[in-house]
Amino acid sequence: MPSCIIIGAGMTGLTAARELQQNGWTATLLDKGRGVGGRMATRRLAHGRADHGAQYFTARTAEFRQFISELTDAGIVREWALHESKMSDISFHHPRFIGTEGMSGIAKYMAQPLNVHTGERAVRISGDENNCTVLTESGQTYRADTLILTLPAPQASTLLAENQLLSPSEQAVFDAIEYAPCLAVMVSIHGRSSIPAPGIIKFDQGPIAWVADNLQKRISATTSLTIHASAAYSKEHLEDDLTAVGQHLIDLLGEWIPKAQVDSFQVHRWRYSLAENCYPNPYFVCKTPFTLLMGGDGFGQGNVEGAFQSGLQMARVLIS
Ligand SMILES: Cc1cc2nc3c(=O)[nH]c(=O)nc-3n(C[C@H](O)[C@H](O)[C@H](O)COP(=O)(O)OP(=O)(O)OC[C@H]3O[C@@H](n4cnc5c(N)ncnc54)[C@H](O)[C@@H]3O)c2cc1C
Repeated sequence: MPSCIIIGAGMTGLTAARELQQNGWTATLLDKGRGVGGRMATRRLAHGRADHGAQYFTARTAEFRQFISELTDAGIVREWALHESKMSDISFHHPRFIGTEGMSGIAKYMAQPLNVHTGERAVRISGDENNCTVLTESGQTYRADTLILTLPAPQASTLLAENQLLSPSEQAVFDAIEYAPCLAVMVSIHGRSSIPAPGIIKFDQGPIAWVADNLQKRISATTSLTIHASAAYSKEHLEDDLTAVGQHLIDLLGEWIPKAQVDSFQVHRWRYSLAENCYPNPYFVCKTPFTLLMGGDGFGQGNVEGAFQSGLQMARVLIS
């Protein structure tokens, strides 16, 4: 039976593993995180919960639409009526989808039939024409015929370069893929928020890009807000003290979040959020002795749907 190790259990890796497994392959997913989903992330707070990575996604391509329709029938995904928003200059013409239990619920659902090892950070990759070996920080060794990498391109580039698996021309391809950072604040608040239905404010300028009310989004039983700082603010303050950053961003939203309503908050530093400069194709074939495909949202279309397409296309090229 052909086999593949997939590093990264976000949307790209999960999609690739599902497709390979459904076509008779043995697929082993490794992720350094405690759970699956990567940047499709939902966190439990002191009260309620919040999506703090991807907020919603589109489904414009036929394969992804079909997959999302299956997840909708299973009660895992539903539409968020963002086209009703009056607090955004952009109009949401295409439907926007969310996880009914938060974004990470989609990843958990996808992972159920798969062979996933979480808490496994890949640190060493080696191999020959017949197979490849991945060593993880915990000391475990995994072997397969082929390897798929789905980490954000800068992290993948570092991992491959450390293992002498990247030529200068390949390094240049990876280095050209850029991501914006994002500082995300999750705020538990008392009572209802004054964020207008359907629960978002989108700012075109200034330090804050986005505020979402997770109660109105119906993924939290109590009111919690997700604040995303703008790319420019996040770049400037990425290494700042996170508590100070969180407090500053909450203070800026005083009109919408009165101090007395704030119960507690947490801040997450995303070094890689949205891919700003993508490689044009959904994956890249590395010139290693064994078969190594590199994909993820930096390849093709830099978002959740692009990650799905990247994973699907990598699996299909291996199967064929
Ligand atoms: C703040 C923010 C807002 C966003 N908003 C949107 C949005 O509204 N709509 C949208 O469509 N997209 C949005 N995105 C982008 C979207 O989340 C990503 O495009 C998509 O989730 C990428 O999936 P992926 O599988 O390619 O990568 P990831 O989800 O990053 O998965 C990669 C996985 O690799 C793992 N990993 C890394 N290094 C190692 C290692 N050495 N060993 C093992 N595992 C490793 C990580 O733990 C991670 O789970 C947003 C992202 C962020 C952060």
